[in-house]
Amino acid sequence: MIDHDVLIIGAGLAGLRAALCAKEQGVDVAVVTKVHPVRSHSNAAQGGINAALTDRGDDWRDHAYDTIKGSDFLGDQDAIEVMCREAGDEVISMENMGAIFNRDENGNLGTRNFGGQREARTFFVADFTGQALLHVLYEQIVKAGAFVYEEWFVLSLIVRDGKCGGVVMMDIKTGKIEVVRAKAVILATGGLGRVFEPSTNALICTGDGMSLAYRAGAELMDMEMVQYHPTTLKGSGVLLSEAARGEGAYLLNSENERFMLKYAPEFKELASRDVVSRCEQTEIDEGRGIDGCVLLDVRHLGEKYINERLSQIRELGIDFANVDMVKEPVPVMPGMHYAMGGVKADIDGKTAVPGLYAAGEVACISVHGGNRLGANSLLDTLVFGRRSGIHAAEMVKSVKHLSIDDSAAQDDINHINQLLSNEKNESFGQVRLDMGTGMKNHLGVYRDQISMEKALELVKDVKERAKSIYVADKTKTFNTNLMFSIELGFMTECAEAIAASAIQRQESRGAHTRTDMPDRDDENWLKHILVTKAEESHEISFLDVIITDWEPVIRQY
Ligand SMILES: Cc1cc2nc3c(=O)[nH]c(=O)nc-3n(C[C@H](O)[C@H](O)[C@H](O)COP(=O)(O)OP(=O)(O)OC[C@H]3O[C@@H](n4cnc5c(N)ncnc54)[C@H](O)[C@@H]3O)c2cc1C
Repeated sequence: MIDHDVLIIGAGLAGLRAALCAKEQGVDVAVVTKVHPVRSHSNAAQGGINAALTDRGDDWRDHAYDTIKGSDFLGDQDAIEVMCREAGDEVISMENMGAIFNRDENGNLGTRNFGGQREARTFFVADFTGQALLHVLYEQIVKAGAFVYEEWFVLSLIVRDGKCGGVVMMDIKTGKIEVVRAKAVILATGGLGRVFEPSTNALICTGDGMSLAYRAGAELMDMEMVQYHPTTLKGSGVLLSEAARGEGAYLLNSENERFMLKYAPEFKELASRDVVSRCEQTEIDEGRGIDGCVLLDVRHLGEKYINERLSQIRELGIDFANVDMVKEPVPVMPGMHYAMGGVKADIDGKTAVPGLYAAGEVACISVHGGNRLGANSLLDTLVFGRRSGIHAAEMVKSVKHLSIDDSAAQDDINHINQLLSNEKNESFGQVRLDMGTGMKNHLGVYRDQISMEKALELVKDVKERAKSIYVADKTKTFNTNLMFSIELGFMTECAEAIAASAIQRQESRGAHTRTDMPDRDDENWLKHILVTKAEESHEISFLDVIITDWEPVIRQY
């Protein structure tokens, strides 16, 4: 058994920011991650990070309002205020640590436009901002001496008398199982993108943390809010960053029409993501698509500018769709990108389970509500990563380890043995694919009562099938077959929470757009939906949205 003060699960931006800040408080900190830190999905973030800097004439309150409107008024305004107020300092501290942001012609930090915002307040490093930030934070972690368990896979959280006191984890290299006691555990495990197929998310984004927390008694909130990004590549679903539209790209239909002009006359291609995705889907459904897609056109920006600002997405177009965007428009479609929902946590990362914190995409601090603005997620990971790291470090100074011993691993050992002894039956790949395509078909850009009922049936079916997965590899070294099978268990639970929440919401708001209930209903549904685990299935409850200064109004772009 191993002991740490603060144990952070996840080495993406949220996890590393939390680790650095906790370490600075002088406590013992360790990070555990199932992949090498710089392979975390944060590395894939392209477009940038938002902040309203006062010395540029911007105001955090404007950023807050754009975020609230973007959330379709489901975001909690007290939390949004914290994120937007602290954004400037966060971006500047990343710059001071060594992130080389693009500059404008005067040598100041440069910004680009991003969707749903009235100001250009997105700071960026070409179109690989996440990679730049993640590498800088990783260097800082190494320098600060926080211990990193690389390629260790967390199987469960240890809970005693309702308190979280550590984790059970497996060394992927050797199959060794270890019990780790921690006075505070911070979940920073990222999103659940791969519950849907296709998705812009890395294959490792399997919702582990949401499921771990759910099993430990935490609440999952806003799970019905799943973001479809307007520009994912035909076929593979690989993301083409909103930076393309930020830099001036057009969206065209089969009649060569810039269709966003009619739907969102003011913001055009840069309306909020849920809005643009719905418009694209409508064009496609009404017969003005091209083979299930619309076109993203950047040709007018010119080759030099494209190479300077959008080099990575040009390469992605060539590699994955065989289209060079300098010469031709690229076929794109709405694709699953982000989970607005997650483990309910407050502005210091605290969840309903004492000792358990959550930050980053795994958490729902309710800053994104029904729809996240582009470039607000990197910000969310850093601001709330920092806050949870500091808070957890303070907390551990006055508590003791819970009384836990190696027997805490027994349930996980039994589960692994059971998986390994399953007879030749279902393959995890097939079940995962059936779940992913089903979730996309039934809980897509548009949904209705019938499709959501189908989603619930699908979830029941895949949950059952996931129990009898056949694990062909019986060895201990790098048994990814076993690990993927365990991940599938996490994913089916996330799928259940999403479908169960979606069917509750009797209105259309943000990413939850019902064709059978097209209007927003503020009178009855200015509420969050929460899911908690019950004996056999789950329980649903509701929580009012926190409004501070901004009353809901009709949302137009
Ligand atoms: C292609 C793409 C582009 C994006 N572009 C932008 C952008 O430009 N701007 C923006 O604001 N947002 C963007 N986003 C969203 C943003 O990148 C993510 O929401 C954010 O980076 C998530 O960070 P995180 O720290 O929460 O998690 P991640 O970076 O996903 O890290 C999760 C960590 O948890 C670990 N982990 C998970 N499960 C386990 C387990 N069971 N055991 C051990 N370790 C585990 C993983 O190893 C990993 O280290 C983009 C997302 C994608 C997919």
